[in-house]
Amino acid sequence: MSKRDYYEVLGVDRSADKTTLKKAFRKLAQQYHPDVNGAPESEAKFKEINEAYQVLNDDQKRAAYDRFGHAATGPGSGGYTDFGAGGFGDLGSIFEEIFGGFGGATSGRARRNAPRRGADLRADVRLTFEEAAFGCERELDVPRMEMCDRCHGEGAEPGTTPIRCSTCGGAGEVQRRQQSPLFGTVVTAATCPACNGSGETITSPCGKCNGAKRVRVNRKINVNIPAGVDDGTRIRLTGEGEAGMLGGPAGNLFVVIGVEPHPIFVRQEFDIHMELPVNIAQAALGATVRIPTLDGGEESLEIPAGTQNGKIFRKRNLGIPRLQRSGRGDMLINVRVVVPTNLNGEQKDLLRKLAATLGDESIEPSKGFFDRIFGDR
Ligand SMILES: [Zn+2]
Ligand SMILES: [Zn+2]
Repeated sequence: MSKRDYYEVLGVDRSADKTTLKKAFRKLAQQYHPDVNGAPESEAKFKEINEAYQVLNDDQKRAAYDRFGHAATGPGSGGYTDFGAGGFGDLGSIFEEIFGGFGGATSGRARRNAPRRGADLRADVRLTFEEAAFGCERELDVPRMEMCDRCHGEGAEPGTTPIRCSTCGGAGEVQRRQQSPLFGTVVTAATCPACNGSGETITSPCGKCNGAKRVRVNRKINVNIPAGVDDGTRIRLTGEGEAGMLGGPAGNLFVVIGVEPHPIFVRQEFDIHMELPVNIAQAALGATVRIPTLDGGEESLEIPAGTQNGKIFRKRNLGIPRLQRSGRGDMLINVRVVVPTNLNGEQKDLLRKLAATLGDESIEPSKGFFDRIFGDR
């Protein structure tokens, strides 16, 4: 398999600086990301771009590549099979497929006893329409792993100290040599099974966490939900996720908002819509009506004489407060002219008299009719 030159892959010249590399990589990565680009070859292309960038962006690897070409970076060259987390995503799984059964081996990543970030957590919150609009405070029950307060995350009973793991000598990982039909002798690293990567053996485990260093706690967390959130809004509470391991930072807590529908209002961005039924007399003669507001009050609305069905009135600043900005959206009132269905005799007579004075409307489609059926052309 012949490999393309890394500079050629990224479309940069050999003297390109890191800013240029990054720009080129970003542009190509966006173009060929398999989630964006549906083409079947995009995944291979994306890997190629990623590989080229990982090498050229690392001064040491780039220098080796400049001198020895691909021989400096290929697997089995004794060179660089370790591209770190998130680099060569798939290299690990390729190794696993070839040398499966390593018991938790994830090759290509060194230093198993490096700090590990705690997991992110999610909490769902259901709000009424008004709570979402105007903001509110909520107390959440969050079950999560926290650092054990008895041993302060050491895992050892206070007063005792862990000793160095005898299996890995404190490195947290063990190395395995395997013969590969493709690459010759390959050395892979696996998390030390004896100490689980910590490099230490705890002789007297902490009485509270049993040496696990973290304990499960049902934590109550107050969260201020800002005005203007909507269904699906995610609020990040930094560091409120699970505690990290080996000195790593805590994860984040994501609060995901769900909003109940309102009996009257329908939200669209920061505007709210409502339907206003009016009778034919109000529509024809005009009227002043009271309409409810989101705040629980009332506003008056002037309906001019001759208002047609479907007419929309706008009341400024009576919508939803804009999330993390000032001002509010608008309230839009959609008029629905209701044709009466249960007229009594007197009402029918009145309408007949009215009908006699109106004469025959000509039956000719208006321009508006065509626009409604076929859209604007
Ligand atoms: Zn403990
Ligand atoms: Zn060990």
